[in-house]
Amino acid sequence: MSSPQIEVLIPQEEIQKRITELGAQISADYGDRPLVLIGVLKGSFMFLADLVRAISSPVRIEFIGAKSYEGTSTSGQVQITKDLDKPISDEDILLVEDIIDTGLTLNYLLHVLSQRSPRSIRTVAFLDKPSRRRIEVKGDYIGFTIEDKFVIGYGLDFEQKYRNLKDLCILVP
Ligand code: 5GP
Repeated sequence: MSSPQIEVLIPQEEIQKRITELGAQISADYGDRPLVLIGVLKGSFMFLADLVRAISSPVRIEFIGAKSYEGTSTSGQVQITKDLDKPISDEDILLVEDIIDTGLTLNYLLHVLSQRSPRSIRTVAFLDKPSRRRIEVKGDYIGFTIEDKFVIGYGLDFEQKYRNLKDLCILVP
């Protein structure tokens, strides 16, 4: 069996350019207000690492682990696999996602985190696939809007592989 071919969808230079713009926008919006960035594991780790270096506002970093199960249920189910280390009450939160696909994960995390009395919550997603949405949820800051293609690289995996690719890619069978 031949191994799948990998095609570049968004090259690393374009990714870095867009992240610089996102960081500048976020820094302008928050100014000197301390910000808690919450990375959603595992897919967001590379995006968060680059984004945080493009933000000049004072930041604290947290991680949350989430897993979504498609199963047979039409609503989908999300489970928290790793919780935050510290409380977030009265904090300005920026939830950092790799991709908004069906929207189920983001919707669930926003619901859970908003019950912990943060001062504000906004979301930043590296990618948005609006055509796949099953629940209405919108990112406040979006890196790139893409078509309905399964993407890998720059933190995103296929069966836990390919996260280390520098470009955002697609698998061609
Ligand atoms: P949701 O469907 O809940 O919006 O997204 C759940 C998670 O599915 C995302 O955070 C991401 O980790 C994963 N996911 C969705 N679309 C893709 C994709 O095209 N490629 C990869 N590697 N993961 C995806």
